[in-house]
Amino acid sequence: MMKEKLQAIKDEAMKQIQASDALDKLNDVRVAFLGKKGELTAVLKGMKDVAAEERPIVGQMVNDTRTAIENLLEETKRKLEARAREEQLKKEVIDVTLPAKKNNVGHRHPNTIALEEVERIFIGMGYEVVEGPEVEYDLYNFEKLNIPANHPAKDEQDTFYVNKDIVLRTQTSPVQARVMEQGRLPIRMIAPGRVFRSDEVDATHSPSFHQIEGLVIDKNITFADLKGTLEEFAKELFGPETKTKFRPHHFPFTEPSAEVDVSCFKCGGKGCRFCKGSGWIEILGCGMVHPHVLEMCGIDPNVYSGFAFGVGLERIALLKYEIDDMRLLYENDIRFLKQF
Ligand SMILES: [Zn+2]
Repeated sequence: MMKEKLQAIKDEAMKQIQASDALDKLNDVRVAFLGKKGELTAVLKGMKDVAAEERPIVGQMVNDTRTAIENLLEETKRKLEARAREEQLKKEVIDVTLPAKKNNVGHRHPNTIALEEVERIFIGMGYEVVEGPEVEYDLYNFEKLNIPANHPAKDEQDTFYVNKDIVLRTQTSPVQARVMEQGRLPIRMIAPGRVFRSDEVDATHSPSFHQIEGLVIDKNITFADLKGTLEEFAKELFGPETKTKFRPHHFPFTEPSAEVDVSCFKCGGKGCRFCKGSGWIEILGCGMVHPHVLEMCGIDPNVYSGFAFGVGLERIALLKYEIDDMRLLYENDIRFLKQF
């Protein structure tokens, strides 16, 4: 009777094991037959009802059944694992004939190329490159540069106010005031950087652009030094044939002041579409530092004098690379940038 029962359990277990097509199902079968509440375990618990002399024989039979079920479980488990591994490998196969993914390598921006060119020229003339904060005190951005609260120049440079004393700088000139205040003379520096004005975006305007300001302060600096320096700069930047023209102008922090044109490097001054027929292209503003600005920054204007100039970095990049729309500089389209 016990023998038949064990045989029936064994047959049922074998059947279920063979029907298992996944590891979790196989485990269910193990629990159902060999687990704490499993069928074979129940038989062992019933041993107390078996006559004492038959117990060793029945015990042996139970063990044999258990071993047979365990062996088949183990063998099936190995087969299922091997099959799962094979399927995984098939899924993860790498097709070495597929074209490789291309890495997009960046490119230096025309602004950066132009800036490095300008820096190279001035470093060659013994200038230092100095940087300052983009968020600036109104005091440095305007007051110390001879632009008091009600000055009309403040309107022209309408900007973004953080509060009534702090602005996003409208020019890189405040860096000059900061350097002059330190009182280490002489000064020979350029200050490149980002500036902000509340301008609408169009082909020649942007609310954020870049300037490069230059400042020289020493004894006996004259307008001749200014002219010579900027002529040299223009020749280095646009070619040795370049001529310069100084037109009188007004800036609050320089006196006298001038705007500088260079002869058109496209037509050599004959007049073309690029220079709108005039033969000249405006590139920067400059002048002798106003004595009042020197005084406000703690420098004695009776002993020291100096000159300053400011040039738009985008203006140089647009001219040098013949780009006709400033917006192209901010789109960062690699197909555009790669051309320079
Ligand atoms: Zn021209």
